[in-house]
Amino acid sequence: MNNHEWFARARAVMPGGVNSPVRAFLAVGGKPLYIARAGGAWIEDVNGNRYVDLVSSWGPLILGHAHPEVVEAVREAAGLGLTYGACHENEVRLAEAIRRAMPHIEKARLVSSGTEAAMSVARLARAATGRDAIVKFRGGYHGHGDCFLIDAGSGALTFGTPSSPGVTRASAAETMVAEYNAPESVRSILAANPGRVAAVFVEPAAGNMGVVPPAAGFLEELRDLTERHGTLLVFDEVITGFRIARGGAVERYGVRPDLAVLGKIVGGGMPLAAFGGRADLMDMLAPEGGVYQAGTLSGNPVSCVAGLKTLEILERDNPYAALERKADRLERAIAEAMRKTGFPSTVNRVGSMYTLFFGIKRAPDFRAASVADAALYADYHAKMLASGVYLPPSQFEACFLSTAFGAAEADRFLDAHEKAVGEL
Ligand SMILES: *Cc1c(COP(=O)(O)O)cnc(C)c1O
Repeated sequence: MNNHEWFARARAVMPGGVNSPVRAFLAVGGKPLYIARAGGAWIEDVNGNRYVDLVSSWGPLILGHAHPEVVEAVREAAGLGLTYGACHENEVRLAEAIRRAMPHIEKARLVSSGTEAAMSVARLARAATGRDAIVKFRGGYHGHGDCFLIDAGSGALTFGTPSSPGVTRASAAETMVAEYNAPESVRSILAANPGRVAAVFVEPAAGNMGVVPPAAGFLEELRDLTERHGTLLVFDEVITGFRIARGGAVERYGVRPDLAVLGKIVGGGMPLAAFGGRADLMDMLAPEGGVYQAGTLSGNPVSCVAGLKTLEILERDNPYAALERKADRLERAIAEAMRKTGFPSTVNRVGSMYTLFFGIKRAPDFRAASVADAALYADYHAKMLASGVYLPPSQFEACFLSTAFGAAEADRFLDAHEKAVGEL
């Protein structure tokens, strides 16, 4: 059976044929590939086609697919039992490894997905402050918890509206939506709602509107504003943690949140996420405190080993400077090829994550990024795929480089890129 046959079969038994919507390729008008195997920077579909992979499972695979040391550790752990529902050594080691890289995460709780981690932080922040409201940014993503599936309301200072059917008006009535890289939008929301906002959630470097780095002073101003209003600052580092530096955005930008959400890399490719931060806040969680939070598979022993081995390799090899150089070279080459075409475009990059936006010359915020030319991107995406490069099936996502992305992969990528943009 080929890709198309599998997709037809999938659609009969799974909504849209997928287990997560973006995988259906709707935003680029194509059809999904069925992946048979992956190794290093490459994936192979059931038709036997090989692709240089810049999706990297949406971020976790900073060491590339099936890193031999990670796979070996997982094999060994699996043989010792897939889940215990009880305490084990490697969950302690993983929490310690997180704290070594991110000293502001004094205590952590391990969960199974970024969505679960962000939802748990919202509850904890509400409990800690005795307030109900949450502020998030337009174009920011914190998983699919009800309080995050909210669009901006009619006016900047009003509460939001549900962005999905099934999210109640009551949920929307507790979330306000600010503008990323516009601290004045947060200032006015906090000023207009004194004593009501529990937490401001932010992707410190945005990844889910396409990559948009924080403007100079933006995170500092969020820190200052939240402190003055008794509001907690939450960094959603599900993408940026262990990606843009080992210590994530906190290391890279020097601003410290009260609480942080981790996922993706921290699980080393297995289903594992975490949240953590100030010990006084984290100790409000059950059983130490009264805020309920639990999970049958939380701290799963096999997932913990994948995460721990990944963090240990990052600590041992410190690949960040090399990743930065590699990504910088790629960014320049991509931009140079675009310049020759005469199409307006811009590349936003933070470390080893980047987005090439079509049709716009700058993307400093969500407003600018959101009008990028998605149709042109779809065309580019299809041409890249035909040349053996697997890109995110949406203009508004990030490409991720891994340590496995070497000179051969860069050549393959740039040949495909020059050809694709030459034919747009
Ligand atoms: C992926 C992501 C999440 C959600 O994580 P899942 O594991 O997919 O639930 C939350 N926040 C950010 C910033 C993400 O990129």
